Amino acid sequence: MLIVRGAIKDYDWGVVDGLQAWSGQATGAPQAELWFGVHPGGPSPLVDMAGEPTGEHLADHFDIAAIPLLVKLLAAARPLSVQVHPERELAAAGWLNQQQPGEPLVYSDPFEKTEMLVALEDFEAFAGWRPSDQAAAVLAGLTGTDDAVAALRRGDRADAIRALLAVATPATVQGLGAAARHAGLTDDEVAAYETVARMYPDDRGALLTPLLAYVRLAAGEAVYVPAGVPHSYIRGTGLEVMTSSDNVIRLGLTGKPVFVEHALGALSEELEPQLMRVSHGDLIWPVNAPFVVRMITSGQERIPHGAYRILLLIDGSARVVSEFGEVTLRPGTAAVISADDPDSFVEADGLIAIVQSTER
Ligand SMILES: [Zn+2]
Repeated sequence: MLIVRGAIKDYDWGVVDGLQAWSGQATGAPQAELWFGVHPGGPSPLVDMAGEPTGEHLADHFDIAAIPLLVKLLAAARPLSVQVHPERELAAAGWLNQQQPGEPLVYSDPFEKTEMLVALEDFEAFAGWRPSDQAAAVLAGLTGTDDAVAALRRGDRADAIRALLAVATPATVQGLGAAARHAGLTDDEVAAYETVARMYPDDRGALLTPLLAYVRLAAGEAVYVPAGVPHSYIRGTGLEVMTSSDNVIRLGLTGKPVFVEHALGALSEELEPQLMRVSHGDLIWPVNAPFVVRMITSGQERIPHGAYRILLLIDGSARVVSEFGEVTLRPGTAAVISADDPDSFVEADGLIAIVQSTER
């Protein structure tokens, strides 16, 4: 059993000092994500019982194959990119292909990225496809979108996406909120589209958001987003659990490179996000997911051996005990238990996330 802290990411969409309670530092800059895992994009530092860095990283003890999950704390002040993650075969083939000279760098690693967001407060997201007739009704209220609306009405979502990203009138984005209201969407959705238009007035990727379903989560509720499902997180603080990959193929709302045809190749028409309407204490177990999550607020829980687990303390205090000793966690630190470790017990007085791999 090892204790880690998160590796901080200062992406521009983060909340200024938004993760301070867990990062332990005020930087006066956006704090977007804290990574708990061994991914080379953000290897977690090991800390001692007093919470001080030991100079080592989790990746010094385990490789990415032994630690199949990446856990993050995320604070979004404004919408993240419209994105899709590749499933297993596509990631492996794409990664291999881009080793050839001249190929664009689309993939960060050869692994599938399937993820779940557990809201720690009120959280808004776009995830999965909005029904096409509803999407067409919104887009029909914008100028220059006739080709996209026609493509959508004949069932060709890929062509609709291509047409929206080629819209000639940049000011079209400004009309998103009014078009959403005119199409009869809820006040929450209208407000979300107004936010997108205000934050990304010059980004045609904003025009893709009407294609996506709107999701609002209360604290403790979760949305599971399998690889292939389009999404864009809008606002809020959450716990994010994913397979150990950083493969993000973007379509818009970003200053980073956009790979439209790669994204179209990764998007699924059939897969849908799963909404988990749960409260703290329940097991969050999406169908076919490579992980399960339990959010515990108090009491004792046995952690049987045989699977990789990460126990991340979000609030309060917790003790983790095994035959090898015991550790006390503070918020923003996590106990990492490998598949070979013996049974252990966690005793929590606060909020702790127990994330378990179901792969091994
Ligand atoms: Zn994502």
